[in-house]
Amino acid sequence: MNRWLHLKPRSPLLIGRLKADSAYLVTLPYIPGRVVRGAWAEGRRMAGKAATIAAAARQLQIWNFHPVREGMVYSLPFPRSAWTCKRHPGFRPHGHGVLDSCIPRWVYRLLEEQARLPFPFQIVCDICEDRMTPTDGYYGIDATGGRARISIPLQFQTKVALSRRRRAAMEGMLYQVTAIAPQEDLAFVGRVQGPPDLIREVEEALEQVGVGALTRRGYGQVQVCRGDPPAYLSLRERVERFNRIFRQIYADIARLAPGASPLPEGTWFFTIDLLAPGVFREDPLGPPALWPTLELGGRTLRPCFWITRPTLVGGWSTAWGLPKPVDLAASAGSVYGFRWDPEWGPLDFEALERLEETGVGERTDEGFGELMVCHPFHLEVEPI
Ligand SMILES: [Zn+2]
Repeated sequence: MNRWLHLKPRSPLLIGRLKADSAYLVTLPYIPGRVVRGAWAEGRRMAGKAATIAAAARQLQIWNFHPVREGMVYSLPFPRSAWTCKRHPGFRPHGHGVLDSCIPRWVYRLLEEQARLPFPFQIVCDICEDRMTPTDGYYGIDATGGRARISIPLQFQTKVALSRRRRAAMEGMLYQVTAIAPQEDLAFVGRVQGPPDLIREVEEALEQVGVGALTRRGYGQVQVCRGDPPAYLSLRERVERFNRIFRQIYADIARLAPGASPLPEGTWFFTIDLLAPGVFREDPLGPPALWPTLELGGRTLRPCFWITRPTLVGGWSTAWGLPKPVDLAASAGSVYGFRWDPEWGPLDFEALERLEETGVGERTDEGFGELMVCHPFHLEVEPI
Protein backbone atom coordinates (compact mmCIF):
# COMPACT_ATOMS: atom_id res chain seq x y z
CA MET A 1 0.00 0.00 0.00
CA ASN A 2 1.20 3.49 -0.94
CA ARG A 3 0.00 6.35 1.22
CA TRP A 4 0.81 10.04 0.92
CA LEU A 5 1.04 11.88 4.23
CA HIS A 6 1.15 15.59 4.99
CA LEU A 7 3.04 16.63 8.10
CA LYS A 8 2.09 20.07 9.37
CA PRO A 9 4.59 21.54 11.85
CA ARG A 10 2.95 22.62 15.10
CA SER A 11 6.20 23.62 16.78
CA PRO A 12 9.69 24.39 15.39
CA LEU A 13 11.35 21.46 13.61
CA LEU A 14 15.06 20.75 13.85
CA ILE A 15 15.86 18.14 11.23
CA GLY A 16 19.41 16.86 11.13
CA ARG A 17 22.07 15.36 13.25
CA LEU A 18 23.19 16.73 16.58
CA LYS A 19 26.90 17.29 16.35
CA ALA A 20 28.69 17.01 19.67
CA ASP A 21 31.34 19.57 18.83
CA SER A 22 29.32 22.32 17.19
CA ALA A 23 27.65 25.31 18.76
CA TYR A 24 25.34 25.66 15.74
CA LEU A 25 22.53 23.31 14.84
CA VAL A 26 20.96 24.09 11.49
CA THR A 27 17.95 22.23 10.19
CA LEU A 28 17.63 20.53 6.82
CA PRO A 29 14.89 22.02 4.58
CA TYR A 30 13.08 18.67 4.27
CA ILE A 31 12.39 15.61 6.44
CA PRO A 32 14.40 12.59 5.30
CA GLY A 33 12.67 9.20 5.36
CA ARG A 34 15.17 7.98 7.95
CA VAL A 35 14.01 10.70 10.39
CA VAL A 36 10.36 9.62 10.06
CA ARG A 37 11.49 6.02 10.41
CA GLY A 38 13.36 7.02 13.56
CA ALA A 39 10.16 8.49 15.06
CA TRP A 40 8.32 5.27 14.30
CA ALA A 41 11.09 3.15 15.88
CA GLU A 42 11.08 5.40 18.96
CA GLY A 43 7.30 4.88 19.25
CA ARG A 44 7.80 1.11 19.23
CA ARG A 45 10.59 1.38 21.78
CA MET A 46 8.36 3.45 24.07
CA ALA A 47 5.66 0.80 23.73
CA GLY A 48 8.16 -1.81 24.97
CA LYS A 49 8.44 -3.51 21.58
CA ALA A 50 12.06 -2.67 20.74
CA ALA A 51 12.86 -6.29 19.84
CA THR A 52 10.34 -6.22 16.98
CA ILE A 53 11.70 -3.13 15.24
CA ALA A 54 14.17 -4.77 12.86
CA ALA A 55 11.65 -7.30 11.47
CA ALA A 56 8.82 -4.78 11.06
CA ALA A 57 11.16 -2.19 9.51
CA ARG A 58 11.74 -4.52 6.56
CA GLN A 59 8.07 -4.19 5.56
CA LEU A 60 8.11 -0.40 5.66
CA GLN A 61 9.45 1.96 3.02
CA ILE A 62 9.38 5.57 4.10
CA TRP A 63 10.38 8.15 1.49
CA ASN A 64 11.36 11.76 2.06
CA PHE A 65 8.97 14.52 3.08
CA HIS A 66 9.34 17.61 0.92
CA PRO A 67 8.04 21.10 1.76
CA VAL A 68 4.85 22.34 0.13
CA ARG A 69 2.57 25.35 0.60
CA GLU A 70 -1.21 25.10 0.80
CA GLY A 71 -2.86 25.46 -2.61
CA MET A 72 0.05 23.82 -4.46
CA VAL A 73 -0.73 20.64 -6.39
CA TYR A 74 2.85 19.47 -6.08
CA SER A 75 6.32 20.58 -5.08
CA LEU A 76 9.74 19.27 -6.09
CA PRO A 77 13.38 20.10 -5.56
CA PHE A 78 14.79 21.95 -8.57
CA PRO A 79 16.97 19.70 -10.69
CA ARG A 80 20.65 20.80 -10.78
CA SER A 81 20.05 21.81 -14.39
CA ALA A 82 17.69 24.66 -13.33
CA TRP A 83 19.25 28.07 -13.95
CA THR A 84 18.15 31.56 -13.12
CA CYS A 85 19.33 35.10 -13.89
CA LYS A 86 22.29 36.05 -11.72
CA ARG A 87 21.17 39.64 -11.36
CA HIS A 88 17.41 39.18 -10.87
CA PRO A 89 16.89 35.56 -9.75
CA GLY A 90 13.49 33.90 -9.51
CA PHE A 91 10.36 33.14 -11.48
CA ARG A 92 8.73 35.81 -13.63
CA PRO A 93 7.25 38.34 -13.19
CA HIS A 94 9.17 39.08 -9.95
CA GLY A 95 12.52 37.80 -11.24
CA HIS A 96 13.97 37.45 -14.72
CA GLY A 97 12.89 33.83 -14.88
CA VAL A 98 14.07 30.28 -14.32
CA LEU A 99 14.74 27.75 -17.07
CA ASP A 100 16.07 24.23 -17.37
CA SER A 101 19.38 23.62 -19.13
CA CYS A 102 19.34 19.80 -19.21
CA ILE A 103 18.03 19.19 -22.72
CA PRO A 104 20.05 21.98 -24.44
CA ARG A 105 23.25 20.92 -22.66
CA TRP A 106 22.76 17.25 -23.43
CA VAL A 107 21.97 18.01 -27.08
CA TYR A 108 25.02 20.27 -27.31
CA ARG A 109 27.19 17.46 -25.87
CA LEU A 110 25.80 14.96 -28.41
CA LEU A 111 26.42 17.30 -31.34
CA GLU A 112 29.86 18.28 -30.10
CA GLU A 113 30.92 14.63 -30.43
CA GLN A 114 30.22 14.57 -34.16
CA ALA A 115 30.51 18.08 -35.54
CA ARG A 116 32.31 21.34 -35.04
CA LEU A 117 29.94 23.72 -33.30
CA PRO A 118 30.50 27.34 -34.29
CA PHE A 119 29.51 28.70 -30.85
CA PRO A 120 30.13 27.79 -27.18
CA PHE A 121 27.37 26.50 -24.96
CA GLN A 122 26.08 29.49 -23.06
CA ILE A 123 22.77 30.56 -21.60
CA VAL A 124 22.23 34.22 -20.84
CA CYS A 125 19.20 35.99 -19.43
CA ASP A 126 17.02 37.14 -22.32
CA ILE A 127 15.95 40.27 -20.41
CA CYS A 128 19.23 41.71 -19.08
CA GLU A 129 21.73 39.47 -20.92
CA ASP A 130 23.59 38.79 -17.69
CA ARG A 131 24.86 35.29 -16.92
CA MET A 132 22.52 32.66 -15.58
CA THR A 133 23.54 30.46 -12.63
CA PRO A 134 22.25 27.21 -11.14
CA THR A 135 19.49 27.53 -8.58
CA ASP A 136 18.52 25.07 -5.88
CA GLY A 137 15.83 24.57 -3.26
CA TYR A 138 12.19 23.74 -3.90
CA TYR A 139 9.44 25.06 -6.11
CA GLY A 140 5.74 24.31 -6.28
CA ILE A 141 2.92 24.56 -8.80
CA ASP A 142 -0.62 25.69 -8.04
CA ALA A 143 -3.84 24.55 -9.72
CA THR A 144 -3.62 27.29 -12.37
CA GLY A 145 -0.06 26.34 -13.33
CA GLY A 146 1.52 29.24 -11.41
CA ARG A 147 4.97 28.51 -10.02
CA ALA A 148 6.63 29.76 -6.89
CA ARG A 149 9.84 29.08 -5.05
CA ILE A 150 9.16 27.57 -1.64
CA SER A 151 11.01 29.46 1.04
CA ILE A 152 11.45 27.68 4.33
CA PRO A 153 10.63 29.95 7.29
CA LEU A 154 13.42 29.72 9.86
CA GLN A 155 13.62 30.73 13.48
CA PHE A 156 16.66 31.11 15.70
CA GLN A 157 16.94 30.29 19.35
CA THR A 158 19.78 30.03 21.85
CA LYS A 159 19.66 26.93 24.03
CA VAL A 160 21.62 25.51 26.92
CA ALA A 161 23.03 22.02 26.41
CA LEU A 162 21.47 19.55 28.80
CA SER A 163 21.18 16.38 26.76
CA ARG A 164 23.08 13.34 27.95
CA ARG A 165 23.83 12.54 24.35
CA ARG A 166 26.13 15.52 24.22
CA ARG A 167 29.53 15.23 25.84
CA ALA A 168 29.67 16.01 29.57
CA ALA A 169 32.15 18.81 28.90
CA MET A 170 29.46 20.49 26.82
CA GLU A 171 26.99 20.66 29.73
CA GLY A 172 25.73 24.16 30.16
CA MET A 173 27.23 25.30 26.87
CA LEU A 174 25.17 27.72 24.85
CA TYR A 175 24.32 26.75 21.33
CA GLN A 176 22.35 28.31 18.55
CA VAL A 177 19.47 26.43 16.95
CA THR A 178 18.15 27.29 13.50
CA ALA A 179 14.85 25.47 13.07
CA ILE A 180 11.91 25.40 10.66
CA ALA A 181 9.25 27.77 12.00
CA PRO A 182 5.68 26.45 11.95
CA GLN A 183 3.39 28.32 9.57
CA GLU A 184 -0.25 27.63 8.87
CA ASP A 185 0.17 26.97 5.14
CA LEU A 186 3.42 24.95 5.35
CA ALA A 187 3.45 21.15 5.23
CA PHE A 188 5.86 18.36 4.34
CA VAL A 189 4.59 15.72 1.94
CA GLY A 190 5.95 12.24 1.44
CA ARG A 191 4.88 8.67 0.83
CA VAL A 192 4.97 5.61 3.00
CA GLN A 193 4.74 2.09 1.58
CA GLY A 194 3.77 -0.89 3.72
CA PRO A 195 0.87 -2.76 5.32
CA PRO A 196 -1.97 -0.46 6.52
CA ASP A 197 -1.48 -1.28 10.21
CA LEU A 198 2.20 -0.31 10.07
CA ILE A 199 1.39 2.91 8.21
CA ARG A 200 -1.12 3.76 10.93
CA GLU A 201 1.59 3.12 13.50
CA VAL A 202 3.85 5.58 11.67
CA GLU A 203 1.09 8.22 11.71
CA GLU A 204 0.50 7.73 15.45
CA ALA A 205 4.20 7.74 16.31
CA LEU A 206 4.77 10.97 14.39
CA GLU A 207 2.09 12.75 16.42
CA GLN A 208 3.16 11.21 19.74
CA VAL A 209 6.94 11.24 19.44
CA GLY A 210 7.49 14.13 17.02
CA VAL A 211 10.19 14.37 14.36
CA GLY A 212 13.80 15.39 14.41
CA ALA A 213 15.90 16.62 17.31
CA LEU A 214 15.02 18.25 20.64
CA THR A 215 11.57 16.65 20.72
CA ARG A 216 11.77 16.47 24.52
CA ARG A 217 12.16 20.24 24.58
CA GLY A 218 9.05 20.97 22.56
CA TYR A 219 10.48 20.79 19.05
CA GLY A 220 9.27 18.47 16.30
CA GLN A 221 5.52 18.41 16.90
CA VAL A 222 3.54 17.66 13.76
CA GLN A 223 -0.05 17.07 12.81
CA VAL A 224 -0.44 14.19 10.35
CA CYS A 225 -3.06 14.22 7.57
CA ARG A 226 -3.61 11.85 4.68
CA GLY A 227 -3.42 13.46 1.25
CA ASP A 228 -3.79 12.81 -2.46
CA PRO A 229 -0.78 11.87 -4.56
CA PRO A 230 0.92 14.91 -6.14
CA ALA A 231 -0.64 15.84 -9.50
CA TYR A 232 2.35 15.32 -11.82
CA LEU A 233 1.93 14.49 -15.49
CA SER A 234 2.08 10.73 -15.91
CA LEU A 235 5.53 9.21 -16.36
CA ARG A 236 4.80 8.25 -19.96
CA GLU A 237 3.67 11.75 -20.79
CA ARG A 238 6.75 13.28 -19.18
CA VAL A 239 9.06 10.97 -21.14
CA GLU A 240 7.21 11.60 -24.41
CA ARG A 241 7.26 15.38 -23.99
CA PHE A 242 10.93 15.25 -22.97
CA ASN A 243 11.73 13.43 -26.22
CA ARG A 244 9.65 15.79 -28.37
CA ILE A 245 11.54 18.80 -26.99
CA PHE A 246 14.85 16.94 -27.20
CA ARG A 247 14.35 16.22 -30.92
CA GLN A 248 13.20 19.74 -31.63
CA ILE A 249 16.22 21.35 -29.94
CA TYR A 250 18.52 18.81 -31.58
CA ALA A 251 17.15 19.71 -35.01
CA ASP A 252 17.48 23.45 -34.26
CA ILE A 253 21.12 23.22 -33.18
CA ALA A 254 22.07 20.59 -35.80
CA ARG A 255 21.14 23.07 -38.54
CA LEU A 256 24.00 25.26 -37.32
CA ALA A 257 26.47 22.37 -37.07
CA PRO A 258 27.83 21.28 -40.45
CA GLY A 259 28.36 17.52 -40.58
CA ALA A 260 25.91 16.63 -37.81
CA SER A 261 23.77 13.57 -38.47
CA PRO A 262 20.07 13.47 -37.61
CA LEU A 263 18.97 11.68 -34.44
CA PRO A 264 18.19 8.02 -35.12
CA GLU A 265 14.44 7.29 -35.19
CA GLY A 266 13.11 5.26 -32.31
CA THR A 267 15.86 6.18 -29.82
CA TRP A 268 14.52 7.29 -26.44
CA PHE A 269 16.24 9.72 -24.11
CA PHE A 270 15.24 9.96 -20.47
CA THR A 271 16.59 11.21 -17.16
CA ILE A 272 16.70 9.89 -13.64
CA ASP A 273 16.47 12.85 -11.26
CA LEU A 274 17.33 12.47 -7.59
CA LEU A 275 14.82 13.97 -5.13
CA ALA A 276 17.16 13.12 -2.23
CA PRO A 277 20.85 12.19 -2.06
CA GLY A 278 21.76 8.86 -3.71
CA VAL A 279 24.36 6.34 -2.50
CA PHE A 280 25.86 4.42 -5.42
CA ARG A 281 28.48 1.75 -5.91
CA GLU A 282 29.18 0.04 -9.22
CA ASP A 283 30.59 -2.95 -7.42
CA PRO A 284 29.25 -3.99 -3.97
CA LEU A 285 32.77 -3.90 -2.51
CA GLY A 286 34.10 -1.12 -4.70
CA PRO A 287 34.48 2.59 -4.03
CA PRO A 288 31.41 4.85 -4.00
CA ALA A 289 30.29 6.28 -7.34
CA LEU A 290 28.46 9.49 -8.13
CA TRP A 291 26.19 7.92 -10.73
CA PRO A 292 23.69 5.04 -10.74
CA THR A 293 23.59 2.11 -13.12
CA LEU A 294 20.14 0.86 -14.12
CA GLU A 295 18.97 -2.67 -14.84
CA LEU A 296 16.35 -2.23 -17.53
CA GLY A 297 14.99 -4.85 -19.93
CA GLY A 298 17.85 -7.22 -19.14
CA ARG A 299 20.49 -4.56 -19.84
CA THR A 300 22.80 -2.62 -17.60
CA LEU A 301 22.56 1.06 -18.50
CA ARG A 302 25.09 3.71 -17.54
CA PRO A 303 24.28 7.39 -17.83
CA CYS A 304 25.64 9.12 -20.94
CA PHE A 305 25.09 12.60 -19.49
CA TRP A 306 24.98 13.92 -15.93
CA ILE A 307 24.93 16.99 -13.71
CA THR A 308 25.77 16.10 -10.13
CA ARG A 309 27.66 17.19 -7.05
CA PRO A 310 29.05 15.12 -4.19
CA THR A 311 27.75 15.33 -0.64
CA LEU A 312 28.27 13.33 2.56
CA VAL A 313 25.46 11.45 4.24
CA GLY A 314 25.34 9.95 7.68
CA GLY A 315 22.46 8.23 9.39
CA TRP A 316 21.26 6.38 12.41
CA SER A 317 20.40 2.70 12.57
CA THR A 318 16.87 2.47 13.95
CA ALA A 319 17.32 -1.23 14.64
CA TRP A 320 20.53 -0.90 16.62
CA GLY A 321 20.48 2.68 17.82
CA LEU A 322 23.97 3.19 16.41
CA PRO A 323 25.34 5.71 13.94
CA LYS A 324 25.78 4.45 10.39
CA PRO A 325 28.97 5.00 8.44
CA VAL A 326 29.24 8.26 6.55
CA ASP A 327 28.93 7.65 2.82
CA LEU A 328 29.90 9.72 -0.15
CA ALA A 329 26.69 10.42 -2.07
CA ALA A 330 25.34 12.29 -5.08
CA SER A 331 23.34 15.30 -3.94
CA ALA A 332 19.60 15.84 -4.36
CA GLY A 333 18.74 17.37 -7.73
CA SER A 334 21.40 15.32 -9.57
CA VAL A 335 20.40 14.65 -13.18
CA TYR A 336 21.40 11.50 -15.09
CA GLY A 337 20.65 11.12 -18.79
CA PHE A 338 20.13 7.66 -20.30
CA ARG A 339 19.57 6.51 -23.84
CA TRP A 340 17.50 3.55 -25.03
CA ASP A 341 18.21 2.31 -28.57
CA PRO A 342 15.41 0.85 -30.73
CA GLU A 343 17.27 -2.42 -31.44
CA TRP A 344 16.89 -3.27 -27.73
CA GLY A 345 13.10 -3.43 -28.14
CA PRO A 346 10.41 -1.01 -26.91
CA LEU A 347 11.16 1.18 -23.90
CA ASP A 348 9.55 -0.43 -20.86
CA PHE A 349 7.56 2.36 -19.19
CA GLU A 350 6.30 0.02 -16.47
CA ALA A 351 9.87 -0.81 -15.49
CA LEU A 352 10.57 2.92 -15.21
CA GLU A 353 7.49 3.28 -12.99
CA ARG A 354 8.79 0.47 -10.78
CA LEU A 355 12.08 2.33 -10.52
CA GLU A 356 10.23 5.33 -9.10
CA GLU A 357 8.63 3.00 -6.56
CA THR A 358 11.85 1.37 -5.42
CA GLY A 359 14.41 4.15 -5.80
CA VAL A 360 17.96 3.62 -6.96
CA GLY A 361 21.25 2.75 -5.28
CA GLU A 362 21.93 1.73 -1.70
CA ARG A 363 20.26 2.58 1.63
CA THR A 364 16.91 3.22 -0.07
CA ASP A 365 15.25 2.05 3.18
CA GLU A 366 16.47 5.34 4.71
CA GLY A 367 15.02 7.38 1.81
CA PHE A 368 18.25 7.70 -0.21
CA GLY A 369 17.91 7.33 -3.97
CA GLU A 370 14.33 8.65 -4.21
CA LEU A 371 13.91 9.60 -7.84
CA MET A 372 11.71 10.82 -10.61
CA VAL A 373 11.99 9.81 -14.25
CA CYS A 374 12.09 12.93 -16.48
CA HIS A 375 11.58 15.64 -13.85
CA PRO A 376 8.79 17.93 -15.16
CA PHE A 377 11.07 20.98 -14.88
CA HIS A 378 13.25 19.68 -17.74
CA LEU A 379 10.40 20.64 -20.08
CA GLU A 380 10.86 24.32 -19.16
CA VAL A 381 13.53 25.17 -21.72
CA GLU A 382 12.21 28.73 -22.04
CA PRO A 383 12.45 31.07 -19.02
CA ILE A 384 9.29 31.11 -16.88
ZN1 LIG B 1 18.28 39.01 -16.07
